[in-house]
Amino acid sequence: MDFEEKAQQYLVEVQSWLQNIRNFLDEQEMKVDPNMLVEIDRVYHDVKHQLQEENISEPVVSELQRTVRQMNHRVVQLFERNQIRIRESVPIGKHVLPPLPYAYNALEPYISEEIMRLHHTKHHQSYVDGLNTAEEKLREARRRNQFDLIKHWEREAAFHGSGHYLHTIFWEIMNPRGGGKPKGELLAQIEKDFGSYELFKKHFSEAAKKVEGVGWAILVWSPRSRRLEILQAERHQFLTQWDTIPLLVLDVWEHAYYLQYKNDRGKYVDQWWNVVYWPNVEKRFAEAKKLKWQPY
Ligand code: MN
Repeated sequence: MDFEEKAQQYLVEVQSWLQNIRNFLDEQEMKVDPNMLVEIDRVYHDVKHQLQEENISEPVVSELQRTVRQMNHRVVQLFERNQIRIRESVPIGKHVLPPLPYAYNALEPYISEEIMRLHHTKHHQSYVDGLNTAEEKLREARRRNQFDLIKHWEREAAFHGSGHYLHTIFWEIMNPRGGGKPKGELLAQIEKDFGSYELFKKHFSEAAKKVEGVGWAILVWSPRSRRLEILQAERHQFLTQWDTIPLLVLDVWEHAYYLQYKNDRGKYVDQWWNVVYWPNVEKRFAEAKKLKWQPY
């Protein structure tokens, strides 16, 4: 591919990224420095102009690259600053696809533009749509007191919910300026829990390579053991939403009720409410609520 072609692709890419960012800022009613909007529009028009030229100029493109890199940095900062202000929570059925904080081709040569584009706009979008549908159907079930399809919609909520939450993390933990090693407290914790960064990396890579079929390798923090752990999620839909925190749990394994209730699990569930100790659930809730990710 010659320079002209590559530059052309790059500019088209940047153009659509700027467009997406602009739309997103408008939609979210985020508090944005008006200068920044002007700047985005200016770069957008420069890119557009350059695309209409007979010959794409190399100095102009490298100047644009510099500007886009700076803008990328400012957008990331803006998102971080607005973390809590943008949306206090996601209403039922109102999840949105988070914009990529970098262009689709930004992770090349490690991850191709084509993969990133499909992965983000098709796969992730379908998780967002599926989760919204499941949440609306579950709300409808509550309103109509009609729970016949509860199993189906809980599965859908788990499958699409894990998909949406995990992909949202996935985009954020990658960046064209990535690579290298963690620092500070995270590095210290990794060394404490895994022996060394190299051993952690080996363990994580092996876990990822050996996940059966579809799935994820996940580094987690356990507030209970206060240690890092590496897990494999073989099928992320079975049956949890990763990135959520359990508050109230009910054991419905047979060992939990069979000696007393025999096969009448329903009766056990109904009676169980008499022993739920809410102060401790409230305590878990208060602690869990302190953790806030950007709502999408
Ligand atoms: Mn994926």
